[in-house]
Amino acid sequence: MQLNSLGFPRIGRRRELKFALEQYWRGELSRNELVAQAKALRQTHWQWQADAGVERLPVGDFAYYDQVLTLAATLNVIPERHRDGDKVDLDTLFRVARGRAPSGKAAAAAEMTKYFNTNYHYIVPELHPNQTFSIAWTQLFDEVEEVKALGYDPKPCILGPVSFLYLSKAYGSEFDKLSLLPQLLVTYAELLARFAAQGVSWVQIEEPVLALDLDESWQAAFATAYQAFTCVSVKLLLTTYYGSVAHHADIIQTLPVAGLHLDLVSAPEQLEVFLPRLGQQQVLSLGLINGRNVWAEDLDLIAERIAPVARELGDRLWLATSCSLLHTPVDLDVETALKPELKRQLAFARQKLLELRSLNTLLTVPNGADAAAIAAECVARRTARAQAADAAVAARLDALTKADFERQSAFPERQQQQQQRLKLPLLPTTTIGSFPQTPAIRGLRNRFRKGEISALEYDNQLRQVCRNTIDRQLKLGIDVLVHGEAERNDMVEYFGEQLEGVGFTKHGWVQSYGSRCVKPPLIYGDVSRPKPMTLDWAEYAQSLTDKPVKGMLTGPVTILHWSFAREDISRDTLCKQIALAIRDEVADLERVGIAIIQIDEPAFREGLPLRRCDWKAYLDWAVDSFKLSAACVRDNTQIHTHMCYSEFNDTIAAIAAMDADVITIETSRSAMELLRAFEDFEYPAEIGPGVYDIHSPNTPDVGAMVTLMERAARRIPLRQLWVNPDCGLKTRTWDEVEPALRNMVDATRELRRRL
Ligand code: GLN
Ligand code: ZN
Repeated sequence: MQLNSLGFPRIGRRRELKFALEQYWRGELSRNELVAQAKALRQTHWQWQADAGVERLPVGDFAYYDQVLTLAATLNVIPERHRDGDKVDLDTLFRVARGRAPSGKAAAAAEMTKYFNTNYHYIVPELHPNQTFSIAWTQLFDEVEEVKALGYDPKPCILGPVSFLYLSKAYGSEFDKLSLLPQLLVTYAELLARFAAQGVSWVQIEEPVLALDLDESWQAAFATAYQAFTCVSVKLLLTTYYGSVAHHADIIQTLPVAGLHLDLVSAPEQLEVFLPRLGQQQVLSLGLINGRNVWAEDLDLIAERIAPVARELGDRLWLATSCSLLHTPVDLDVETALKPELKRQLAFARQKLLELRSLNTLLTVPNGADAAAIAAECVARRTARAQAADAAVAARLDALTKADFERQSAFPERQQQQQQRLKLPLLPTTTIGSFPQTPAIRGLRNRFRKGEISALEYDNQLRQVCRNTIDRQLKLGIDVLVHGEAERNDMVEYFGEQLEGVGFTKHGWVQSYGSRCVKPPLIYGDVSRPKPMTLDWAEYAQSLTDKPVKGMLTGPVTILHWSFAREDISRDTLCKQIALAIRDEVADLERVGIAIIQIDEPAFREGLPLRRCDWKAYLDWAVDSFKLSAACVRDNTQIHTHMCYSEFNDTIAAIAAMDADVITIETSRSAMELLRAFEDFEYPAEIGPGVYDIHSPNTPDVGAMVTLMERAARRIPLRQLWVNPDCGLKTRTWDEVEPALRNMVDATRELRRRL
C-alpha cells in the first residue's frame, strides 16, 4: 500500500526557517543564503519522508511565508501595491505578507486570517473585478525539479480552484468571485500541464471547502472546474480534510478525478458513504494518522477497522495522514526532557510518518514479528494511559448538579449588589489585562529560566513591575485596575504549567503564521489545580490600592482550544475538568476579597465546528464550561469575560447564555457596528466595546473615542457600558500605552460631562 504524506511542517525541527527568515528581514542574511537554507530544510524533510517509505514526496508544502500566498503568486494574484514593475521575486511575496521587505516599496500588508478551524493563518489573496491570471512565480516547478534531482517522485500539493476562489477576498466594487472561475481554470490547466511536462504523475488538489456548508453556486462550481481538467495528463487526488465531506458526496462522486482523500480522523463515518461510490479505477487515500494532534495512534485498532477495506481495494488504498502535518511539531526525538510515560504517548510529524509505515505493516504482514511488536506497544500505551487517570477528578465531575452551573441570582439582582459594593462611576474605565511586556521583563524571565536569578529575585522584580503598573493606572485615573500579567509568558502556557495533567515540550513549535510559531501545552491527563495559580499576584496588586483590581484568568474553552488535547475523553468532559480547575481559582480569588474576576475566552469562537449543524453541540458544552468556571461566586462578585474577534451575530445567544456580568470585546475597527448584534438581541448584561485598536502604535484621539462611545450609547443603554481598549496591551510600549489611555480617560470624562 502506498503511504501518502499530505505535507510536512516547513519550519524545521529547531525552527531554522523562522530564524533564517527573521535574519533575512533584518538584513543579516543575504537572499541567496536564505534560499540555500530553505532548500536544505526541504531536502531534510523530503529525506525523512522517503526514509519512512513515502513514495511521492509533497511539493508545495514548503513556503517562505504561507502556501496560499505561494499559490497566489504562482497564479499572479498579487496586489498592485506590492508590485515592483513586472518582476515577481521573494521580496514581492514578503511585501504582500508583511507590508515590507528588504527591497521594494512598503505598502499595507494583505489581510491574514485563520485557515478553517486551525490556528494556522493564511494570507488572503486579493481579487479585483478585472483580475487576470497567469503563471508568474515558478517556485513550485523548481521544487518539483529538486525532488526529481534527489531521485524521488514529486507530488505537487495545491489548493484547488474552487477553494482558492472561496478563500480569496473580492476587493474593489462588489462582484461575484465565481465570475472569475472560467479564467482561473485556464491558468490552473496550464499549471497542471506544466507539472505533467515535468513528469509529475499525481497532483494533490485540495478542496477543503467541501467540508463546509456551500450554497448552490459554489457546489456547481466543482463540476465546471474539474471538467476543465480532463484533458490534462496528471492524475488528480481530490483532497479534503478537517471534516466530513459526506454532505457533498453526490457532487464529489461525479468529479472526473483519479483519486479521493478523506480525513477519517475528523470524520470516520464518511468512509461508509464513499466506499460504495468509488469508481472502479479510483484510488482512495484514507487519512488515518491525525495531522492536527500529537498523540501516538492506536494503530492496532485502526488496522482492525481498515483491514476489510484494504482487502477490497488492494493497492488502490493509500494510507495517509489526515491532513498536512503543518499543524504538528516536527520531531519528538529532540525532546529529551519529557517524562518517559508522556513521551511514549506522543508522535510528532516524523513519528507520524513512521506510524504510517507501521500501519502498513499491520495490514500487509499482520502475522509477522514486527506486527506483533507494534500491536504490543499499542496495548501497553493504552494501559499506561488508563492507569494515569485521576479518580478524584472524575468523581467531582460526576457529582455536579445543575446548580453548580448557575449564579445565585439573575443578572439584574447581581448588578444591583455589585453596584453597591463597587460604587463605580457611569462608564467605568478599565483595560483588558496585560500591560507592556518590556525587554526588561522578558530579560528577567530568560535569566530566571536559565537559573541565573533565583525564584525570590524573579518574584521581587516582578512585584516592582506590578507596583509600577498599578501606580501608572492610578495616575491615569482608570477605575478598575489590573495587575498587568507581567509574570505570564503566554495566557495559556502560564496556566498549563501549573495544572495537573498538562505537560510541556521544549521544541514542540507549530507555525502560526510566517515566522511566528506557538508551542501549545499538551493536555495528557485528567486536569486539576493542585494549588492557587494567580492568587499571590491578585492579592499583592489589590493590597496597593483601594480601587478594585480584577483577578485575571484564562477560560476553560480557550485553554482547551489552544492546547494539544487528549482524545481518549470527549472535549466536553475535558473542558469541564479545566473549568473546575479555574473554578477553584475563582473561589480563592473571591475568598481573599477580589471583587471582580475576568475569565478570558478569546478562543471561544474559534472552536466553532465547520458546519452549522454541529454548532449547537459545541456551544452547549462551551457555554456550560464557562458557567461552571464562574458560577461559584456570590452575587456581589462581578464576573467579566473578554473576547476579541469581529463577528457576534451568529453566536450572540450563546454569549448571552454565558451569563457574565460584563463582556469586553473588540469593536473599534468596525466603528461599533458589531454592537448591533448585542442591540438586536437586547443583550442583558454590561458591555465594554473596545474604543481603540491596540494593534496599531498610533495614539487614538479623544474626539474619535467620544464619537465611538456616543455611537455605542445609541445601541446599548448607558448604564450597561464600559470604556476600555480592544484587547491586552502586552505588545505595545509604555510610550504608546500611556498617551492612549490618558486620552481614553479624557474621552470618558468628556462623555460623562455630555451625557
Ligand atoms: N487578558 C489577556 C491580555 O490582556 C487577554 C488576551 C487576549 O484576548 N488574547 O493579554
Ligand atoms: Zn483580546
